[in-house]
Amino acid sequence: MVAIVPKLQINSLRLHTDFTELAQIGHTANGGISRVALSNEDLEARAWFANQIEEAGFFVRDDEVGNLSGVLPSKAKHAQTLLIGSHLDTVPNGGQYDGAIGVLAGLECMRAISDAGIDLPFHLEVISFTDEEGWWQSFFGSMGLTGTLKSHHINDAQQDNAAFRAALYRAGILVSEVDRAIRPMDDLCGYLELHIEQSARLEQARKNIGVITGVVGRSAYVYTFYGEGTSAATTHVNDRCDALQGAALFITKMHALIAEEYPDGIVNCGNIEVQPGTFNVIPAEARLRVECRHQDRTTLLEIESRLVEMAHTIADTYRLSVKVEEMYKREVAIMDEHLMTLIEGICDEQHLSHQRMVSYAGHDAQILSPFTPTAMIFIPSKDGISHNPREYTEWHDVENGANVLLSTILRLASEKV
Ligand SMILES: [Zn+2]
Repeated sequence: MVAIVPKLQINSLRLHTDFTELAQIGHTANGGISRVALSNEDLEARAWFANQIEEAGFFVRDDEVGNLSGVLPSKAKHAQTLLIGSHLDTVPNGGQYDGAIGVLAGLECMRAISDAGIDLPFHLEVISFTDEEGWWQSFFGSMGLTGTLKSHHINDAQQDNAAFRAALYRAGILVSEVDRAIRPMDDLCGYLELHIEQSARLEQARKNIGVITGVVGRSAYVYTFYGEGTSAATTHVNDRCDALQGAALFITKMHALIAEEYPDGIVNCGNIEVQPGTFNVIPAEARLRVECRHQDRTTLLEIESRLVEMAHTIADTYRLSVKVEEMYKREVAIMDEHLMTLIEGICDEQHLSHQRMVSYAGHDAQILSPFTPTAMIFIPSKDGISHNPREYTEWHDVENGANVLLSTILRLASEKV
């Protein structure tokens, strides 16, 4: 049934035309892209993508969480679906490649396969997931599809999510219907995502392709140090209970701990709120938002508990108290070993150098990976810059990545026949 064309390649010019057209939608004065999820620009990009799917002769599919797909159906009975794709939304003033490459290369692979008259043993579906970047809710679309989207993601009592719900409604997404987006996972035979690397490891190692082994686990905590807000002028130095002094030492020691003992880990303090926040009162409260990332689940837990211990030791030293609240937890995601090996073999055949690597950034693939065999293909990012107008990937690297994606689809097809 399947006549696999071994040398089938994507049409680079067609892909590039799509890329430059899409980059017009939400473009900013300094060459960036602002297409935050559910914005006018995002909706315009979705309409454009739906048109491209229809023009190519595929079925357009959308679901109750706003995921938008093109489908090349299989003639095989009881065929499963192979998902390929990424996301069309961006961060504010982000770049042209993040997310867009995965979706556009997916569409181009479908066109190449369709043009060659290949009947696949699975339905091939190129999907753009809603709000991967988290302008409203990170991974809204992929969580909706996998059934991991919970009501608190939309109706968080801690926050006023009225604007989010209004944006969903405006995009035709009804909160009461989102559960209908859940797919039976037995219907899927895998998910493949091509993405730019967003750091400089491939470039520095002079490798063409990154084969992703997993996405780091991630947790976010709020640490609140409590002191006493007395007069900065008259409180004796030995009587000061300065919450900010404790918090500052905590931040410094936290980074030192990671640098010295967990070089594969990442911690970040991205925000400090100080009360009462005036220059002549000793800080009574310092609230820090701290994030930790690591590829190994046990090590991540160890880092987290050592930071809590460190915070308590510092609080004791400065006669403070400290409260630690977990705000967010995302488990380590593991990619499929068989797919990784398959992609490595394809790189060898195409004379592309490659290396296995972990992803420190989050991707929809990590949401899919517990449910269906999942793989990610990375291509180099110039100077490792992303979420920025200067985000750039050489076009030949995009071509390489798209051709590896295409060959992976075809190899999976040949395995299933
Ligand atoms: Zn992305």
